[in-house]
Amino acid sequence: HSLADKIAAGEVVERPSSVVKELVENSIDANASMITIEIEEAGLKRIRIVDNGHGIYKDDMKLAFNRHATSKLKEDRDLFHIRTLGFRGEALASIASVAEVSISSSVDGIEGYQYEPNQSDEITPSIARQGTDISVSHLFYNTPARLKYIKSLQTEQAKITNIIQRMMLAHPEIAFKLKVDGKVSIQSTGRGSMTEVIKSVYSTQIAKDSLVIDGHTQDYDLTGLIVRPHHFRSSNHYISIFINGRYIKNYKLNKAILEGYKTLLPIGKFPIVVLHLTMDPQIIDVNVHPTKEEVRLSKENELFELIRDTIQQKMQSIQL
Ligand code: ADP
Ligand code: MG
Repeated sequence: HSLADKIAAGEVVERPSSVVKELVENSIDANASMITIEIEEAGLKRIRIVDNGHGIYKDDMKLAFNRHATSKLKEDRDLFHIRTLGFRGEALASIASVAEVSISSSVDGIEGYQYEPNQSDEITPSIARQGTDISVSHLFYNTPARLKYIKSLQTEQAKITNIIQRMMLAHPEIAFKLKVDGKVSIQSTGRGSMTEVIKSVYSTQIAKDSLVIDGHTQDYDLTGLIVRPHHFRSSNHYISIFINGRYIKNYKLNKAILEGYKTLLPIGKFPIVVLHLTMDPQIIDVNVHPTKEEVRLSKENELFELIRDTIQQKMQSIQL
């Protein structure tokens, strides 16, 4: 691999959790309804993702590892109509430049193929199970500087768990299972209920004390769960906002949530909230920071008021 490859890889895969994120996003983009994530030694030893998505055709397998190879942007103008999570075609190429990768995939459950980009140019037959099974071993073995930068396995594992929890909250319709060093750590049912996901991710009690909200304006649709204010937290980490299935951070929208709860929350405390927003992709710009989570929104005030007022109304209704 060239130096340029390794430098570019750093942008997309700076740590084990970023590898997990990219791979799970690929499974989601492939329309999987079941995704299993296996982690060994916080991902440094091995990350394996198995999905039941649409799979990769034999002829596309090598292509998938080419830089800027993406099957997701058919035309230039698609950049402004992004529906999929991935669109840059960099993740697999980057990951394969800093780890050993083995992938097997089947598009029909009848024939399956396996490819190990760093081992051989051959694509060989493998067992056929609908979907894709990708394994990433010895991450950063050839980039010691990056390896050194990983502080503790515990911190890395926590980041991975966090990302999977986020994916669960984003996709109640997908059954996720996270296994850490051979043991099931968290799993969701995939039955599509937000309340069930909250139970898996937080707790049964929090699920019981949560309230469904929904609202809309001309440009925005809002659904979600807000948890009664006695389950407050000391940080805003329990506020999750998804726009068209993508986790985002936006200071103003957080503020809208807090204003919705108004005086019900003690000062310095934060609620547990999951918001799903759907909107025309043209009014968000996901391309602002490709690997970061901040997005730019037009008509931000309209959205601010929608969030604040929807939460406020719900809170008033339960106090009656
Ligand atoms: P991007 O997601 O930006 O297109 P990636 O490097 O992540 O780029 O993936 C390259 C291509 O490989 C994807 O466009 C897709 O066609 C294919 N691919 C990767 N992972 C999967 C998967 N789990 N299931 C089906 N296809 C996949
Ligand atoms: Mg991708």
